[in-house]
Amino acid sequence: MRSLKTFFIRTYGCQMNELDSEIMVGQLIKRGLTRIDEENDADLLIFNTCSVRDLAERKVMGKIGQLGRSPHKRSIIGVTGCMAMAKKETIFRKLPHVDFVVGTNNISELNEVLDEVLVSGKQMIRTDDQFEENLDYLIAKRDDPVKAYVSIIRGCDKFCTYCVVPYTRGQEVSRPPESIFEECERLVENGYKEITLLGQNVNSYGKDKPEWGCLFHDLLYRLDKIPGLERVRFMTSHPVDITPELMQAIRDLPSVCEFVHFPIQAGSNRILKKMHRLYTLEKYLEKVDLLRSIVPDVSLGTDIIVGFPTETEEEFQLTYDIFKQIRYSVAFIFAYSARKGTPAFRWKDDIAEEVKQDRLQRLLNLHNEICAEQRNAMLGSEVEILVERRNRDEKHLKGRTRCWKNVLFKGHDALIGTLQTIKVTGFSHQTLIGDPLAPYEAR
Ligand code: SF4
Repeated sequence: MRSLKTFFIRTYGCQMNELDSEIMVGQLIKRGLTRIDEENDADLLIFNTCSVRDLAERKVMGKIGQLGRSPHKRSIIGVTGCMAMAKKETIFRKLPHVDFVVGTNNISELNEVLDEVLVSGKQMIRTDDQFEENLDYLIAKRDDPVKAYVSIIRGCDKFCTYCVVPYTRGQEVSRPPESIFEECERLVENGYKEITLLGQNVNSYGKDKPEWGCLFHDLLYRLDKIPGLERVRFMTSHPVDITPELMQAIRDLPSVCEFVHFPIQAGSNRILKKMHRLYTLEKYLEKVDLLRSIVPDVSLGTDIIVGFPTETEEEFQLTYDIFKQIRYSVAFIFAYSARKGTPAFRWKDDIAEEVKQDRLQRLLNLHNEICAEQRNAMLGSEVEILVERRNRDEKHLKGRTRCWKNVLFKGHDALIGTLQTIKVTGFSHQTLIGDPLAPYEAR
């Protein structure tokens, strides 16, 4: 059997994929392989892919296609992630040099699949529709020493008409609270200060397992008891499932950050219905008002799609107006691109690309204006940051506020992983700059 010594892994897409990659890295290191950064030298190449946008998919297909044109293919090549689920066997037809395809629900079987490929020399595929809750999360090998992602629920039952996730990641399956608690406790013991709870819709947590008696807000109350866990974040939320109990937990629990990603997607009720978002603009605004009355200093993030099929200029204007009214501090704004396998793929993608790009740019400009106003308003204020790492410029340390703002300041590396209070004195582009209130003194 051919022996493998080194591997290279490239991750595309969202935080769920990043976490899946960390778990696969842990599995491969346990197998005795060494991770390297130079893909041309690796015995095993894994591409952990994303299918959410057409561009992401085309990029990875192009990249793997290039490898196949090399006359000296010597690496084992694997495709994992959402594209593996969306394309399944067709990957082998388009990219015959790929050795294995492992879907999002089968990453626990990575080493088994590798063995089969090495022994048989044949292509292997595992792409189950259902997630089996037997994944060893504790094996994950993380690069970041301060912040960690922890999966709490996989899959999604919402079926928004533009989204491939329910087809690539399957139905919602919550992870047992004891298992989440154990992983978070271990992370804190190992020095982690901030945990981001991940799921396509974290607010659905526990609904598929009523016998556990642990919904999402209950889980937050449990995790808040872990001594030394400074910050808990979560993403992503579906507005329909955000409850008053969750809002109270954000207000009452010291560890839970006052930032909620609350994706509106569009401002027109007709488009929301066509997207199958399950709320009207009025219901969404009611939730925002309630959240802001319970947690007055909360910051909101959103996702928005412009140029959805049949979206008129007036309907886009509603999205623009609501963005201006809510003043999101974080926004991921995209021009619609049709995804094969979704209901919306059957509809005519009838908004011209120039119109989509124009709407996208107008919304991005508005977002930049709002962020600039928010940064200006923070000048002179004192913010608590968790120091994450040395900044790329090497001169500053970099951290984030509880509400997700980047802050740079000059300080000693010993401050990495600590909470610091910083007085904001300026900003550069999107990043706040400040001075620590208690300068570091070497002991
Ligand atoms: S809530 Fe909608 S957009 Fe989010 S993952 Fe589920 S189907 Fe996709």
